Amino acid sequence: MKKNMGWKELPHGDSSPAGTANEFKTGDWRSERPVWNKEKCINCYFCWVYCPDASILLDKDNKVAGIDYDHCKGCGICRAECPVKPEKAIVMKQERS
Ligand code: SF4
Ligand code: SF4
Repeated sequence: MKKNMGWKELPHGDSSPAGTANEFKTGDWRSERPVWNKEKCINCYFCWVYCPDASILLDKDNKVAGIDYDHCKGCGICRAECPVKPEKAIVMKQERS
């Protein structure tokens, strides 16, 4: 590929339609899994808001109900954002330990 190409010269890349991850269990990629503690959870929804994979599950009353392990990729953002102290309501554990 030559240097300093204009955008019209760039080859077309592949892209996927939005929402296709619903059809795949992308949780297979995970090396660590978030483990949610119902007793410590104050239902602040920080994890639900920040999860990039929409993997925080809510029940019919819109309370946090757990993790969708089929799609959670184990990024740990939910744990990082959980405000509960001194021990968070979500901890990360090695997937296969
Ligand atoms: S580890 Fe990442 S993908 Fe999994 S529930 Fe937490 S924020 Fe979502
Ligand atoms: S961020 Fe922590 S306290 Fe807030 S809803 Fe999620 S698990 Fe519960």
